[in-house]
Amino acid sequence: MSRELSNAMRKPLVVMKFGGTSVGDAAAIRNVVAIVSAAAHSCELVVVVSAMSGVTNRLLEAGTQAQAGNRDRVEAIFRDLRARHRAAIGELIRSVPLRGRVNLQVEQMFEEGERLCDSTRRSRELTPRTRDAISGLGERMSAPIVAAALNERGLVSQSIEATVLIRTDSGHGSAEPEMAATCKLCQARLRPLLEEGIVPVVTGFIGSSEDGVLTTLGRGGSDYSATILGAALAADEVTIWTDVDGLMTADPRLVPEAATIGEISYAEAAELARSGAKVLHPKTLRHVDELGIPIRIRNTFSPEGRGTQITPCGSRSAATIKGLSAVSEIPDSSLARVTAVGMNLGDPAVARRMLAALAVRNVNPISVSPAVSDSSFSFAVVKSDVQRALQALHNEFQLGALDGTASAGRIPPASETWFYAPAEETASAD
Ligand code: ADP
Ligand code: ASP
Ligand code: MG
Repeated sequence: MSRELSNAMRKPLVVMKFGGTSVGDAAAIRNVVAIVSAAAHSCELVVVVSAMSGVTNRLLEAGTQAQAGNRDRVEAIFRDLRARHRAAIGELIRSVPLRGRVNLQVEQMFEEGERLCDSTRRSRELTPRTRDAISGLGERMSAPIVAAALNERGLVSQSIEATVLIRTDSGHGSAEPEMAATCKLCQARLRPLLEEGIVPVVTGFIGSSEDGVLTTLGRGGSDYSATILGAALAADEVTIWTDVDGLMTADPRLVPEAATIGEISYAEAAELARSGAKVLHPKTLRHVDELGIPIRIRNTFSPEGRGTQITPCGSRSAATIKGLSAVSEIPDSSLARVTAVGMNLGDPAVARRMLAALAVRNVNPISVSPAVSDSSFSFAVVKSDVQRALQALHNEFQLGALDGTASAGRIPPASETWFYAPAEETASAD
């Protein structure tokens, strides 16, 4: 068979990342299984998982409590986490031998966590290296659970720790991948599994340095894990499955009328992520943009939605503001930073319109950054004004009407591919 023909017949390779809420309990993991099973008909898949929601925070808290010498608090945290993981395993896995194996694997992680906390408590020192080892346990537990749930459903799957796939520097807490080594490791370890039809379930968030020590990529870093793997394998798409319908015009928790952005460019999405849109880790697009790999953001709990597609050039929308974001977690500051991302934002008339909309809502920007580009506009407000500032701009520029998923007449870009149709397939899959 010619190379061209075999390439044409090749299934597209999609890396699918499921966030903490998406693997938060047995019911959520069943949605994941339905989505993955449906997509596996038409795609080669690599699955990346976060820790179950809240678990990384609890593990970090265990580390801090151990450092402070609070043995009881550490024990209580591990008791809760054990109960939560065991409950999910018990609900998801009927096969007795498989359930026994996963329980054992997860129990070994807990024992490792307890040992690490114990030595931290004795030394009263929590090194960056130990903090990473403790906080990385959440993903090392969720991956075998998700893989077992897929196997239980008849989809041959294997969990794999990203310590053998993602080579990083030794910057504990926010390690950077070394892409050349990572590509080699991913090709050597993942390709053979894919060729055998096995779905790898990879731990998000973690990697390892050259000397084999576990590192973490930074909080929320599983998005980055997914695109690192996508770039290393030259995937056809990376899908970030999360708990909202896509990248939205603002955080829907702060602006309930926020709309899903149908398509956005790498540059605009990266700017929104950098300026606080938590749905995407700020580094997510670093290695995929040069390869032009499309990223889709979709809702695990509403998989029929088209979500947001992030592409090299974005859509041809003429909207001045594409999206708004805010960073409120600035340590030791009463101020927050609000950012608008779009086009022509350096135009003084647009700036005047924004400031007037803020004034109507009694929001007083403390400092406005001089426009350094036409594509973003930032200002500081007191933290208690963030929501009103976002709402004022959202209303003024009618961002709620921008719903790309609903916009009739939108010209589909050439890059818009649709590898699988989960609406029909997930309905019959569960
Ligand atoms: P996951 O656990 O799936 O990685 P995160 O909690 O990290 O999910 O990110 C999803 C959350 O990001 C949403 O629940 C939403 O509240 C928040 N968010 C902030 N800004 C945006 C935005 N512009 N669009 C969508 N979600 C946003
Ligand atoms: N579990 C990690 C965190 O909570 C990574 C992630 O969820 O993306 O930061
Ligand atoms: Mg996240």
